[in-house]
Amino acid sequence: MALSRLSKFVVLDIDGVLLKGGTVIDGAARAVQRLSENKIPYVFVTNGGGVKESKKAEDLTKKLGINVVPSQVIMSHTPFMNLNTKYANSKVLVVGGYPSCLEAAQSYGFMHACSIHCYHAETPKVFPLRNAHPDQSPSSKPTEPVEAVMIFHDPVDWGLEMQILCDVLSPAQLQDPSLATEENKARGHIPFYVSNADIVYTTEYPHPRFTQGAFVEAFRHLYELYHQQPLVVDYCGKPYPVQYEFATQQLREEARRVSGSTAEENIAADSNGGNREVFFGVGDNPKSDIRGANSAGQQWRSVLVRTGIFSDVSAANDATDPAHFVCDDIVAAVQTIIDYKGEE
Ligand SMILES: [Mg+2]
Repeated sequence: MALSRLSKFVVLDIDGVLLKGGTVIDGAARAVQRLSENKIPYVFVTNGGGVKESKKAEDLTKKLGINVVPSQVIMSHTPFMNLNTKYANSKVLVVGGYPSCLEAAQSYGFMHACSIHCYHAETPKVFPLRNAHPDQSPSSKPTEPVEAVMIFHDPVDWGLEMQILCDVLSPAQLQDPSLATEENKARGHIPFYVSNADIVYTTEYPHPRFTQGAFVEAFRHLYELYHQQPLVVDYCGKPYPVQYEFATQQLREEARRVSGSTAEENIAADSNGGNREVFFGVGDNPKSDIRGANSAGQQWRSVLVRTGIFSDVSAANDATDPAHFVCDDIVAAVQTIIDYKGEE
C-alpha cells in the first residue's frame, strides 16, 4: 500500500500574528514567504472588515512585500459572498461604514444592496430626530421591502440603525406576501446576518472599544422588549464554523491556483496518492482563532502565538481554549507547520 501524502493548508490571522498596530511583526513577512517556498497554500482570515477583499489584499501586499490576491483574503463578512445567488435580485439592507460596505456588498453580487443612509433617503420620516443626508439617494428598489439585513462592519449611527432594523425585522413585515415564506414565518422575521459577534476590540485608545457584537446585544434587548419575540441571528466570522468552511473552500482554490492544475486533475491526484489533508489555524486570540480551529473538524490543528492577545509567557497554553501548538511568534509557528509529519 502506498504511503499517504500529507497536504498542509494554513489559515493566518492578521492582527496580533502578522501585524501589530499596523506595523509588521519581526520576521512575519519572511515566515509567510516560507509557506510559499514549501508549497503550502495559505489564506488570511481576519474578523476585521468593512472594505472589499481587493483593498485588503493590496494593503497586505504593500505591508508584507509579498503578492497577496483577493481570493486569499477572508474577512468577517466574506462568506456573505455565498449568499449572492439567493439575494442577487433582492433588496438587501447593508449595515456598516458608508460607502465601503455598500461597495463590498455590490462586489459580492448583491445588485440591489441598500445602505442605512439610502434607506433613510427613501423613507425620510423613519427617524424623526434627523433629516436624511442631502447627498444620499434612494436604493435601486426604493418601494420594495427589505428581504434580508446584513451587518458588514461596525454600525456607526446606533440610534438610526436600531430604529430602521427594528422596523425591517418586525414580524409585521411578514404580512407582505413576498416576505411570508415558510422560512421567514418559522424565524418570525426576515433573515438577519451578522459578521462578527465580538463585543469589544482594541485600538490605540487605552481601553477596549465596542464593536458589532455590542450593537447586536443592545439591539436584541430593545427588539425583544418591543416586538415581544426572540431575535434570530445568523452569525459568521471566527469562531463560527461557516468561516472555516469558507476558508477550506478558498484554500482548495488556492492550492489549484499555485499548482496551476485544474480541480479535476487535483481530485484525480488525491485519489491516486491516498492524500491526507491537515489544516492549520494560526492566531493570537484563544476565544476566536483557537476555539474556531478546534471546533472546525478533526483535520484542523490550532496554533496559538504569543504576539497578540495571548501574551502570558508564564502560561504554557490557554486554559479555556487550549491550542494543539503554542509558539512564540509566527516565525516559530511556520517552522512547526513545516516540520509537522502528522504525528498528532
Ligand atoms: Mg488577532
